[in-house]
Amino acid sequence: MTGAGPLFAEPLPPLDVSGRLDRLRETFPKAGVDGLLVTASANIRWLTGFTGSAGLLLVTSERAVLTSDGRYRTQSQEQLAQAGVASVVDIVIGGAQAQREAMVAAWGATPNLGLEADDVTWSGQRAWDEAVGAGVELVPTRGCVEALRQVKDAGEVARMERAAAIADDALASVVPLLVRAEAESVTEAFVAAALDHAMRVRGAEDSAFETIVASGPNSAKPHARPGDRQIRSGDPVVIDFGAIYEGYRSDMTRTFCIGGEPHGELARVFSVVAESQRVGVAAVAPGVVAGDVDRACRDVIAEAGWAERFEHGTGHGVGLDIHEAPSVGPGATAILAPGVVATVEPGVYLAGVGGVRIEDTLVVVENGRRSLTMFPKDVPL
Ligand code: ZN
Ligand code: ZN
Repeated sequence: MTGAGPLFAEPLPPLDVSGRLDRLRETFPKAGVDGLLVTASANIRWLTGFTGSAGLLLVTSERAVLTSDGRYRTQSQEQLAQAGVASVVDIVIGGAQAQREAMVAAWGATPNLGLEADDVTWSGQRAWDEAVGAGVELVPTRGCVEALRQVKDAGEVARMERAAAIADDALASVVPLLVRAEAESVTEAFVAAALDHAMRVRGAEDSAFETIVASGPNSAKPHARPGDRQIRSGDPVVIDFGAIYEGYRSDMTRTFCIGGEPHGELARVFSVVAESQRVGVAAVAPGVVAGDVDRACRDVIAEAGWAERFEHGTGHGVGLDIHEAPSVGPGATAILAPGVVATVEPGVYLAGVGGVRIEDTLVVVENGRRSLTMFPKDVPL
């Protein structure tokens, strides 16, 4: 990157928000509800474009009502207008009690109101139970909006692709730091901070999650937090990170070997994980069951004798959230379809030797899959 300012300036295709409320309504009969009270902020954002930190969205067969507090009076109007849903979503602004009352009034006496079971707290459920009238039953729902969010439209894929491109370029910018890590006593935390900064100056809103930089023995811990360990020659270094662009996230892991090619057992770990990841990526296609992608990765690692050393799922959906549907783990039943975005990230972790994980974020396309994360996997340091 040269100069200041974001890496990419071209406009992206718009998000196709306006049809989403009706698609949600079509799922109500199967969920056994007449309407849904949406409380998860990413779901509210996906359905309306509203990004405020506080809000509720009631969707019934006839109407939709968004409530929030006074901090978001102007923002909610602007964002709903920009998303093209201002004419079909009513906005009510007020305190927590007023918001709840507005929702109860809008709901009336319709029998089955869905609540998002994975988001509403126990105390929240009790408060809603007291607030709704007699004859209204609260129905716990799971994954109504999340199931729809799995399939991304062109605007969503374009934003994730940009997040991935920012992350690719940011990683390239910290490679020299890894090369001179031993000579300059560079720590894991320093590399993580450099990577986060590099993403921000390239136009990322934030990091997609807390950046992982795990070196030497720490590489054998799949979710080690970057600390003050100095990176040394011969270390494997697992770097797992991503960027956020207009709300959408990327997720990528590369494992480097500092000071040249890995030796001994570590060399075998690198080649087995690379092969597992290559096979897993190749298995991603429309119509494939997510659990079969996991199995493809796992078989390669089991064959090498390390079945027990691959202790996490193969991957997960990515979008507005870093972990969303579909799960790509053992026995996962989701069927991949064009537009689904998911990661493939096998790893092997050997205490005393080191760990290797390789991860790409992929979008399923008609004839297979396309990787959004493009950084090369065999960069010698
Ligand atoms: Zn990751
Ligand atoms: Zn991941």
